[in-house]
Amino acid sequence: SLYFDYCASTPLHPRAYRTLMDSAKHNYANPSSMHEMGFEASLRVEESREQIARHLQVKATEVIFTSGATESNNLAIVGVARAWKKRTGRNPHIILSQIEHSSVYQCGKQLAEEGVEVSFLPVNSNGIVSPVSVKESLQANTILVSVMHVNNETGAVQPIAEIAELLKSEPQIHFHVDGVQGFGKLQVELEHIDLYTVSGHKIGGPKGIGLLVAKEYIEIGPLMYGGEQEQGVRPGTTNVPAVLSFTEAIVASLEERQEKFEYLTTLHGLVCSRLATIPGLVMNSPLPPLSSPHIINFSYRGRGVTSAMMISMLAKQGIIVSSQSACSSKAKLSRVLMAMTQDETISSSSIRLSLHEMVTQEDAVYLVAAIERMVSQLKSKNKFDLL
Ligand code: PMP
Repeated sequence: SLYFDYCASTPLHPRAYRTLMDSAKHNYANPSSMHEMGFEASLRVEESREQIARHLQVKATEVIFTSGATESNNLAIVGVARAWKKRTGRNPHIILSQIEHSSVYQCGKQLAEEGVEVSFLPVNSNGIVSPVSVKESLQANTILVSVMHVNNETGAVQPIAEIAELLKSEPQIHFHVDGVQGFGKLQVELEHIDLYTVSGHKIGGPKGIGLLVAKEYIEIGPLMYGGEQEQGVRPGTTNVPAVLSFTEAIVASLEERQEKFEYLTTLHGLVCSRLATIPGLVMNSPLPPLSSPHIINFSYRGRGVTSAMMISMLAKQGIIVSSQSACSSKAKLSRVLMAMTQDETISSSSIRLSLHEMVTQEDAVYLVAAIERMVSQLKSKNKFDLL
C-alpha cells in the first residue's frame, strides 16, 4: 500500500526512533525521584526543554510537556478561561475560528455551556479567517483568540502574523495558535504569540507527547490534579523517552524544513496539475502560498458519492487516504468544508491527501492514476451522474 495520510500521523524520524529506543532502555527511572537515577532522568528532560526553548526562541520555563496537542489545546483554551473566571468571578469572552481542529472547537463548545461567551469566526471561500473579523469581534471582556496556523483538512494557511500584530496592543488578550500542521512546514515566529501547540506524532516524533508554549505571564488552571510536574499545570509522571525523542523530532524538523518544503512543493505541483485535468473533481485547498504544500483536499461532485465510499475504492487500489481529521472522521459532513463552502455535496464527498518527504514522484503519479480510475468507476455507475 501507499500511505498518503501523513497529517493523521507520521512514522518516526530515524533520529527520534534511535533516541526513543535508547532512552526507553536507559532512562526508566522516575524523573521526580530523589535518587541519582531519577536526577539523571530529570536532567535529560530539562536539557530537552532548554534545547526546544532555544530553537523556538522562548524561555525554558515557558515549555510545558503534555500528552499531545489535544491536551495542549485544552490547557490553552479551557485552562486559561477557567483560571480567569476563577480569579475574577466573571465570565470571559473568547474567539475561535469555525475551522479549528475539534480539540480547540469542542473546548469552545464546552466553555459556552459553562457560561463563557464564545465567538466562532467564519472563513472566506479559501477557508481563511480574516484578521478584520478578529478585530470586529473583540469585546471588553475578551481574553483569548485561538486561530490555527495551517488547517488540517485543507492546508489553508491562516494569517497568524497579522492577527498577532493586531493583538499586540491588547496585552490582556492572549493569542493561541494550534501549530500542529504548520510546525516544520512553514516558518513561525513566536514573539507575539502567547500560547503555541505542537504535537509529537505529526512531526516524526512519538505519539502521546506534545507541548504547549505558554508565555510566563499567562495564568493556566490545571485540567488534572495530583502532582507538581510541569509547574503543577500538568501533573503525572513525565514520559522521559517520549520527551527526548520528541526533542530530536523538533530539532530535525527545523533543520530539514526548507529542503522538505521545496520537495513537498514539487510533489504538490505534480499531483495538483494532474488532478486539475480530471472532470468532476473540485479542489478545496487554495493554491500555495495560501495553503501548505503537504495537504491537498478535493471533492467529487457525484450523486450519492461519499468520502467513505471513495476512501474504500482507493484502498482497493492500495492507496491510503482520509477525508477529515481522524478525530472527527465519523461525521458525515465536514465542518471545515461546510464553513468554507456551505455546500453539503462538497462537504460530504471530500478526500484529503497528505504528503511527506518519503513519498516519491512515482508514488505521486500512481496516486493520481488511482484517483483517475476511481473517477471513471464512479462515472460508469449511472446513479452517480454528475450533479
Ligand atoms: N490540532 C490539529 C490541527 C491536528 O491536526 C491534530 C491531530 N489530528 C490535533 C490538534 C490533535 O493532536 P494530537 O493527536 O497530538 O492530540
